[in-house]
Amino acid sequence: MILRNEDLDSTRFKMDFVSAMLEDLRWFGFEWSEGPDVGGKFAPYNQSERMNFYRAALDQLRAGNFIYPCTCTRKDIQQAVRAPHAEDEEPVYPGTCRAKTEVRGQKSEVRVPLADLRLPTSDFRFNWRFRVPDGETISFVDENLGAQAFVAGKDFGDFIVWRNDDVPAYQLACAVDDAAMQITEVVRGADLLVSTARQILLYRALGLTPPKFFHCELMRDETGVRLAKRHDALSLRKLQAAGRSPEELRRGWQN
Ligand SMILES: [Zn+2]
Repeated sequence: MILRNEDLDSTRFKMDFVSAMLEDLRWFGFEWSEGPDVGGKFAPYNQSERMNFYRAALDQLRAGNFIYPCTCTRKDIQQAVRAPHAEDEEPVYPGTCRAKTEVRGQKSEVRVPLADLRLPTSDFRFNWRFRVPDGETISFVDENLGAQAFVAGKDFGDFIVWRNDDVPAYQLACAVDDAAMQITEVVRGADLLVSTARQILLYRALGLTPPKFFHCELMRDETGVRLAKRHDALSLRKLQAAGRSPEELRRGWQN
């Protein structure tokens, strides 16, 4: 088991949180053989120290014309999208900026030199989006939930791989790291099931082999609401302070 610290979101990230997280996970009973605190042959394990990997992937995606710059704001997209979308899921991108980067009458895989795209000036920040193959069904077998299929352009749209604050998006960072760290199986929450389809496209574009995926049902509170950071009362730290033991909690988790 490998512990990777996904600390790219500098607005939420605090070093104190990391040591508390490691402490809490150890208390609960997790043991990892590689991680930011124990090292390992695929170090560094803090994503903030791995920017060179992500930039290389971004360059590769740009060179292959898999991505395009997008200047839409969140509000622009909300206004352009009419179809409802799940709370967790970003709306399917309406393709506003994609059209600007395609040559009329040619297919999207045609390489368009970036210099010809009338890019905004360099001080203008934009998101880079992955151009999904509209209509293609991305299927995979989840090790827990079985056969899955998502249609590009319908179930998910052109997604952000690099954000306008110059940070790689989750999709890109974790696909690049999973490949570089030779991860064989990813275990994560079922809220990321659709993201697996996005990441499979990234693996393909980057010429990498995807790992196996095992998506778990989300943990929910007594009213059925998924546990999140706002459920502070149920954090491991609070449970520990309330005198609960890791053995007892692990037993409850298995049932
Ligand atoms: Zn846009």
